[in-house]
Amino acid sequence: MNTSPRPKRILLIEDEHGLVVTLTDRLLGEGYSVDSAPDGVRGEKLAREGTWDIIILDVMLPHKGGLEVCRDLRGDGIATPILMLTARGEVYDRVVGLKLGADDYLTKPFEMIELLARIESLLRRPALAPNVPGCLTQYRFGSVEVDFRTMTVRRADETPVELSAREFQLLRYFIEHRGEVLSREIILNGVWGYDAMPNTRTIDTHVTWLRQKIEENPRHPQYILTVYGVGYRFAG
Ligand code: CA
Repeated sequence: MNTSPRPKRILLIEDEHGLVVTLTDRLLGEGYSVDSAPDGVRGEKLAREGTWDIIILDVMLPHKGGLEVCRDLRGDGIATPILMLTARGEVYDRVVGLKLGADDYLTKPFEMIELLARIESLLRRPALAPNVPGCLTQYRFGSVEVDFRTMTVRRADETPVELSAREFQLLRYFIEHRGEVLSREIILNGVWGYDAMPNTRTIDTHVTWLRQKIEENPRHPQYILTVYGVGYRFAG
C-alpha cells in the first residue's frame, strides 16, 4: 500500500528546452510531479486548468510574457505561489513581478540547490490571506496598511507612505517572515538576491529608512525589532 503523500505538483512555464529538461529531471528526482509548457499562452491555460502547488514562470516567453501571465492569473484570483525566473540584470522585471503578484524570483543562471530551496520555502510559507491561500494581497499592522497589488503603503488615515522599491521589497520580506529571527545574510539573499551581495550594512541603512517611515517612534521601534548580534525580527 502506498501511504506516501501526493507529490507536490509543479508547473514549469519555460521556453528554453534544455533548461526544461534539466529542471524536470531534477525536480522529478526530488519527488515532485512536473508538467511544462513552452510559451505563455499554453502555460497560462495549464495554470488555469490544473491544480498546482507552485508555478515556475519565466519572464521572457513566446506569445505571452511571464509578467502578463502572472498579472492575469492573479487578476482572476488564482493564488498559486509563483516563482519568476528572470535573466541577469532584469532588475526592473523583478520589481514589476513582485508588484504583479509573484511570490519570489530567481535570476538565471542559478544553482539547482537555490531553486530547490526557493521551492521548499514557498511550499512552507503559510498563506497570509486566509480566504485566498498563498495570495498575498494586503497586510495591516498598527496603523499601516500594505497593498501588495498596487505596491502602496498608507496609514489608516489615508496618508500615503512613500517607499522606494527596495524598501517595499524589504517590508514585504519582513511581513512574509513575520515572527522569524532573520539574519542580515538571510535578508540579503531574500531581498537583494543571491548574486547581488552588497555590504550587510546596506540592510541596516534600509531598515533605518524603513523604520523612519513606518514606525510611530523610529527610535523605539515596535515592528522591526533588532535582534542583537543576529539581525532583525518583524513583530507586526
Ligand atoms: Ca525565456
